[in-house]
This record gives sequence, C-alpha cells and structure tokens, in this order.
Amino acid sequence: MNETFLIIGGGQSGSQAVDSLRREGFDGRLVLVGEEQELPYQRPPLSKKYLAGEMSDDRLPFRHRAFYEEHRVDLRLGTRVLRLDCAARVAELDGGERIRYDRALLALGAAPRRLACPGAQLPGVHVLRSAADAAAIRARFSPDARVVIVGGGYIGLETAATCRHLGLSATVLEMADRVMNRVVAPAVSAYFERAHRAHGVRIDCGARVAAIEGRDRVERVICADGSRHDADIVIVGIGATPVVDLALASGLAVEDGILVDERCRTSDPSVFAAGDCTNHPSPHYGRRLRLESVDNAFEQAKVAASNMVGKDVIHDRVPWFWSDQYQHKLLIVGLSAGHDRVVVRGEPDSGAFSVLYLRDRELIVLESVDDSKDYMAARKLIASRARIDPARAQDRHRELKDCLA
Ligand code: NAP
Repeated sequence: MNETFLIIGGGQSGSQAVDSLRREGFDGRLVLVGEEQELPYQRPPLSKKYLAGEMSDDRLPFRHRAFYEEHRVDLRLGTRVLRLDCAARVAELDGGERIRYDRALLALGAAPRRLACPGAQLPGVHVLRSAADAAAIRARFSPDARVVIVGGGYIGLETAATCRHLGLSATVLEMADRVMNRVVAPAVSAYFERAHRAHGVRIDCGARVAAIEGRDRVERVICADGSRHDADIVIVGIGATPVVDLALASGLAVEDGILVDERCRTSDPSVFAAGDCTNHPSPHYGRRLRLESVDNAFEQAKVAASNMVGKDVIHDRVPWFWSDQYQHKLLIVGLSAGHDRVVVRGEPDSGAFSVLYLRDRELIVLESVDDSKDYMAARKLIASRARIDPARAQDRHRELKDCLA
C-alpha cells in the first residue's frame, strides 16, 4: 500500500521528521509543506553568527536540495495548510490544492510575541525568529547604529552580544528585575549582566516600554518611567507563543499548545505534533510541559516518526538548553519548578561555575557557565533522580558524580 505522510512545518522538527521517517524505512509518498520559501534551516545562528554576517546563506539549511530529491520528498515551500479535514484525512492548502494523507505531523513551531504599545508597527521595529527577520535587521546595521533591544531573554542577550561584537551600541530593556529571569538563578543573571556591561551594553531592568516614537521610522523608545532611548533599530525579543491556528481550525485539542500524548499523537490518531507547538506529558516530571527548545523539537520529531511508521516509542527526556553570549556558554539541564535548595558550585568571579537546584536533595536542575563537565554529569544524574549532598557539591574540585547523598 503506498501511503502518504504529510509534514506541516519546515523548522527543526519538520526537517528532522523527514530524515527520521526515511531512516525508519518509510517508503511511501512524503510531502513537506513549509510556509517560508527557504529550505528548512537552523535557527540558533540567527541571533549569533548569521546576524553578524559571519555565516553565509548556504550554510543555514539543514540539508541541501539534493537531499530532498534523493529522499523523494515533495517540497511545498511558501505554502500554508489552512485546515485538516481529519475525518476524510485531507489537507486543504492555501492555493486550493487538497492533499490526501494517511498520517500528518504538525511541526508548526512558535511565533514571536510582539509589543502592543503605540509605535510598535513603525519601520525599524523588528522581531527575530526567521532568516528573513535576521537579514532585515542586518541590512539596517551600520557602524553608528543605535540598537535598542526589548527583552533580556535569549534573543535579547544573544543579539546584544552580536551587536557589541560588530561594534554597534546596544541597550537592553528588560521588564523583570533581572535578565533571563524565568530561566536561570539570580547568580547566573548577575554574571551575564556583568559580562554584558563589561562589553559596553546598557541594561535597564524593570523597564516598561510605553511607546515607540518616530516620524517615518523608529527614532526612540519611551519607557513608563519617562526614560527615552534613541534608537535606529529596535529588536523585540519578549517571548514566543505556540502556533496553534491550524490545529484549532482542524478541531484538534489545544491547551497552551497542541495537546499530544507521550507518543506525540494529537487528539486525532492520524495526526501527530512535535516541537515548540506542542503541550506534552513528561513521564519524568509527571506533568505536562510546553518547551521552547531545539533539543525537544528534534527528539519529539524522532519519536513521532517512529510512531507514524507503527512502532511504539515514548518521549521521555530531561530538557536541556544552551546559550552562547560572547565567549561564555550557558548550559541548562532540567526544569526548576519545585526546588527547595539552591547550591552555587564554584565562584562566579572565577569564571566557570554551576548552580544546582535540589528538591529533597534530588538534583532537578543544573545551570552551568563555561563548565560543560558539570553539565554532562548532571544530565545523567537528573535522569536517574540522583540525590546530592549539598555540602560536598559546593566543593568545585570534587566531581559532581562524587557528591551523591
Ligand atoms: P524569552 O527567552 O522568553 O525572553 C523574553 C524576555 O523578555 C523575558 O525575560 C521576559 O521577561 C521579557 N519581557 C517580556 N515582555 C517584555 C516587555 N514588554 N518588555 C521588556 N521585556 C519583556 O524569549 P525570547 O528571548 O524572545 O526568545 C524567543 C524564542 O526563541 C524562545 O522560544 C526561545 O527559547 C528561543 N530562543 C532560544 C535561544 C536559546 O535557547 N539559546 C536563543 C534564541 C531564541 P519575563 O520572563 O518576566 O516575562
């Protein structure tokens, strides 16, 4: 029987699913529909080397066109799926075409949140999610450009580091009282704030953007406390929301993301979903998660592909994240909800250090700055629910695996 599998979305998950399905031996018709015109590409360089102009366009795609030809992938780029008729298993495309599928995968990603204040639509105000966004920002870079970045999260800080690398002035306006407030411990926020200030970035925390002003294009950002920041470019990195419109239009269950089970199956048994757009159960944490993470997109796509070809595979993984800012590498493994103790291992001033979050002595999260050894050890310790002796763990000369309670 010649089946058709339809992948909707050409990001990390969609691209990985194509690869995994062929590796799993799926020999039928494989269609990849992607909204953007470009071949599926990596997003992590968009705020770093690609934005800096140090990575050429041809290095961004995961695979070259020949790969899709060799793997007999029917690429439909620059196309949107408007709705799935789940009962008939038919996808309705924006050009009017209808594709009959046996299994579909929603790999729709997340969309950047935008500011809603007056002036937020002015030319020169950008979000950074796609290669086109990065190219549009880069085209505005000039040696004397004043860049104001709204949001001190991953996008904001990585972009600020890139701006300083290029010699542009950079100001970060963060609403919370510290940068990366939701994802790291105060000691790690403080470390990165110091690093950015040492590189000449102005960081204003507790900053509430009230308006963006300019005649024909952006000229300044006005905060609620009356402070004014002259700007030639504004980059907004204030978070992302899962893309769920297609799932809603198709009658699939959605609740803070597209609801899937451990096998990445949606409320319709023929439709799977993977990556940032999903809300999925985590056996390890015993609760549902919605993650914005490259690793999760990659792993869920592999699990979905296995289940699409009829295997029975469960997605159960401790999440991890990374960020590169200047010469520093931040690595995070685990999720911090519910900790009762925080241990700082090493001295932040010395360069490399880690922060451990414990619950009842169980290691649940580790954040490491320039210490991949602790991070590698923590991946195993967290997955195995290892318990840690806090006093021993404070001694950075002792290996983490030798700090068990
Ligand atoms: P993010 O990491 O969630 O950070 C957004 C930051 O903006 C948060 O600190 C948030 O504070 C703050 N904020 C929210 N509303 C604001 C406002 N009106 N004014 C000023 N600050 C505001 O999101 P992001 O940096 O925009 O990244 C978007 C997506 O790209 C995410 O999915 C992220 O995971 C992904 N990404 C990841 C990486 C990486 O992993 N290295 C790199 C680039 C992008 P609160 O926390 O208080 O809301």
